Amino acid sequence: MSRLKIVVLGKGGVGKSSLTLRFIVDKFIEDYDPTIEDHYIKKVLVDGYYSEVDIADTAGQEEYYTIRNNSAQNADGIILVYSITSLNSFEEAIGIIEEIIIIKEKKIPVILVGNKSDLRKEREVPDTYGKKIEEKYKFIFYETSAKYNVYADEIFFEIIREIRKEKNKNNEKIERKEKKKSCIIL
Ligand code: GDP
Ligand code: MG
Repeated sequence: MSRLKIVVLGKGGVGKSSLTLRFIVDKFIEDYDPTIEDHYIKKVLVDGYYSEVDIADTAGQEEYYTIRNNSAQNADGIILVYSITSLNSFEEAIGIIEEIIIIKEKKIPVILVGNKSDLRKEREVPDTYGKKIEEKYKFIFYETSAKYNVYADEIFFEIIREIRKEKNKNNEKIERKEKKKSCIIL
């Protein structure tokens, strides 16, 4: 079974740990230490196939986040989180997207997540902002609530699907190349 590396990115306080723990232990932990950066390994069944996922819940970045020397460098997929209650966290997410696109020469699946959808009265980021990014970059976009378990698991299932699709495409390319090679030999 292949291990899929997923990295959860985004500004501090947006709910990266809450979403990750929702998926791993199905609990909402109110005050999770914001400085803890941890990995979780879990076997998950998606669409009839098992995958082992390695989820990196990142923490404690500097003012402006850079993925250059980070675990995101060799990730198979990225869950990029902002909070719908913070325009600033959305802007930071856009900055990270631009960086991902510049740095990653190969296409990497990204799911854009607007978390804290339960805090409707404090909304600063209209859902149309996320939808525009979805259209522009062809990323999947969800609004979630880790607190009330709204689409919290789905974002992990979706990134697994996207990573599998990407890996299959790459495998097909390799197969085709090998077929070509064998033609030359024959
Ligand atoms: P991180 O720094 O991105 O890992 O964020 P945390 O997961 O530690 O969450 C930061 C704060 O937001 C904590 O007080 C959480 O309880 C709260 N929080 C996280 N997700 C939600 C959510 O979906 N709804 C609400 N209302 N609060 C949330
Ligand atoms: Mg955290």
